[in-house]
Amino acid sequence: MRLRFLGTGTSSGVPVIGCGCAVCTSTDPRDDRTRTSATLEFTDASGQERVILIDASADLRRQALQAGFERVDAILITHDHVDHIFGLDEVRRFNVLMDAPIEVYADALTHESLRRVYPYILARGDKPPESFVATLIPRHVAPGTPFDLFGLTVTPLDLIHGRRHILGFRFDPPTPPGSASPSDPGTLLPLAYCTDCSAIPEGTWPLLSGVQTLVLDALRHRPHPSHLTIAQATEAATRIGASRTYFVHMTHDLGHAETQAGLPDGVMLAYDGLTVT
Ligand SMILES: [Zn+2]
Ligand SMILES: [Zn+2]
Ligand SMILES: [Zn+2]
Repeated sequence: MRLRFLGTGTSSGVPVIGCGCAVCTSTDPRDDRTRTSATLEFTDASGQERVILIDASADLRRQALQAGFERVDAILITHDHVDHIFGLDEVRRFNVLMDAPIEVYADALTHESLRRVYPYILARGDKPPESFVATLIPRHVAPGTPFDLFGLTVTPLDLIHGRRHILGFRFDPPTPPGSASPSDPGTLLPLAYCTDCSAIPEGTWPLLSGVQTLVLDALRHRPHPSHLTIAQATEAATRIGASRTYFVHMTHDLGHAETQAGLPDGVMLAYDGLTVT
């Protein structure tokens, strides 16, 4: 089981176009951040390799080439902001490579937006695609209602992102028969992926208990109406108490090395290409 950070930057990416600041001109490759997305890669019980893509960022093509992917088995979308869905068109190549449709899991609001942005993919009815077009199967999910994905239990999480609610996702391993707890210290799972978040609603905290690995939004030091600051994210990470917490969705305010130096043990800034097992 492997978590791969494809992108860890905020919506503008880092470097920011036309910016000459120290982080945008840094030679540290960890300061080069494409738009936030990730994959969970594993072999299922039947021996089939699986790649679950979390968000289809505007940089998906470059990220997929970099990671060398040849398949995407399912796509989970946290919300419909441009930085999280404007790479969805690129998955058509995986349809060709796998000769199969791909299921897209999202809430009702996000599916509505996807149909509006991609009518040639999602609103073409029974008409066969006229050219090189993705084939996607929409799956509606709701916070707190778990579903199975290749043997993993995925629980959508309700998160507050500014004035709206979006989804995070919790991944639990299958519970072996006779085992009391699926939580095994030192392992990747249970994993919670919570990007683009300004607050965690009361009802979501219990669903974050027992996670071994936490991925959390941490935009910058200055307050923002739609994202957690480094201080707020650190406080939430401490309360959740995962063995390992990785911050994502950072702006150019945060240089990797100096920001990392100020974080407590077990809390890390993620960077593009980082894989965690
Ligand atoms: Zn975002
Ligand atoms: Zn900059
Ligand atoms: Zn967003």
